[in-house]
Amino acid sequence: MPHNVLIIEDSLSSMKMMRDLLIKAKLNPICAQNLTEAKYVFSSSSPESFLCAIVDYDLPDAPRGQAIDFTLRSFLPTIVVARHLDDDIREVILKKDIIDYITKENEQVYEYLSRLLSRLEKNKKVGVLVVDALRARRTAMVGLLRRHNFITFESADAEHALATMQKFSIIKLLIVDDEGLPRVSGIELLSLLRREYKKEDLAFIGMTLLKKLGLSARYIKSGANDFLLKPYCHEEFFSRVMQHVEYMENIELIRRAADSDFLTGLPNRRYFFEKVETHQKHKPQRQALAILDIDHFKAINDTYGHDCGDYSLKEIAKLVAFHFADFTAARFGGEEFCVYFANQDPSHAHQALEQFRTALATKVFKFEKNTFHCTVSIGLTHQTQNGISGMIRLADKHLYQAKNNGRNQIATDS
Ligand code: GH3
Ligand code: MG
Ligand code: MG
Repeated sequence: MPHNVLIIEDSLSSMKMMRDLLIKAKLNPICAQNLTEAKYVFSSSSPESFLCAIVDYDLPDAPRGQAIDFTLRSFLPTIVVARHLDDDIREVILKKDIIDYITKENEQVYEYLSRLLSRLEKNKKVGVLVVDALRARRTAMVGLLRRHNFITFESADAEHALATMQKFSIIKLLIVDDEGLPRVSGIELLSLLRREYKKEDLAFIGMTLLKKLGLSARYIKSGANDFLLKPYCHEEFFSRVMQHVEYMENIELIRRAADSDFLTGLPNRRYFFEKVETHQKHKPQRQALAILDIDHFKAINDTYGHDCGDYSLKEIAKLVAFHFADFTAARFGGEEFCVYFANQDPSHAHQALEQFRTALATKVFKFEKNTFHCTVSIGLTHQTQNGISGMIRLADKHLYQAKNNGRNQIATDS
């Protein structure tokens, strides 16, 4: 992964701000105060090791953007910074193949820069499909998207677009120009896609001509995330694309947070039930469910303190995640975990649990100056006749048995 970022900037204060920002983003700033120095610094490295360059428009030895031409010629994706931009300069800059430009007006622009940099990294995993009957228009959009590191796909008609969507699950955004699309219109394509993909899983931006204003409203009403009026300017294009990609990522973050347990990061009870329900829709031939309860956990809290208890739970959760990676495992609450096995041989589930039990019993826990061990008791059932809640009840009954029989063991259906 390229981590270097070339900064060409003569203002020391601005340079410092950008350096700090890059270091915070775990990137490696390589600084030059003018074009000559930049050429010297860059001569001993390869463009592949650079994520991008951040270039001041106005430098002592390159007063009119010559440094931008240098970085672009050197195949460095380039972000331009300028003290102020009048319309003429802005137009000149935007004609070049730059990622974006920012003006040094206030501190917020550095925040924008930081957002832009993290996007460049993340965009490498985001697919964008451009649907447009005209090859020249497609190529122009794809060119813009590639500058921002997106993985791009192209379709000249809706049928091809649908087939491409089926093939590449990496596609998260569609940009569709309706003008001239044969057979199936942009709106029809949108409604076909919305049967399968929700707005927060697949963003759709419709393009419309300025004079066809009604179409933009129809797009939104039919489930588009946004629309762009033609002719569009690059900045608006990027701002909208960035906004929607970030929106989807934020939803994904919220989803993940809602599905996981705060302390250990393991899936939580809610997620567990949702996942098991999905499994059961496929009518699994064999099912097993186990409840795992840590032995005398209260004693760990009482002896070494609550922080040590938390630490132990996190360590145990890691072991759970590792041993049951192929199954559905969750923290059910407290010091209790639950594992669901679908389509597994009864002996296989038992074996996986037994391996976990031994691994935990032999693990040495170290917290501050203390060293100690933990064991687990497990209730396992294969009886499915009373549904998932019946399985939980039975597993719990077996767990009680395992505790009574002396702990650190598995009890299962007789
Ligand atoms: P047994 O072998 O019978 O299961 O004994 P036990 O002590 O493990 O069972 P008990 O249910 O009496 O106590 C569970 C303890 O787990 C009590 C509670 O304070 C502790 N616990 C539950 N959740 C957390 C947590 O998130 N952090 C910490 N540190 N302790 C927790
Ligand atoms: Mg318990
Ligand atoms: Mg316990």
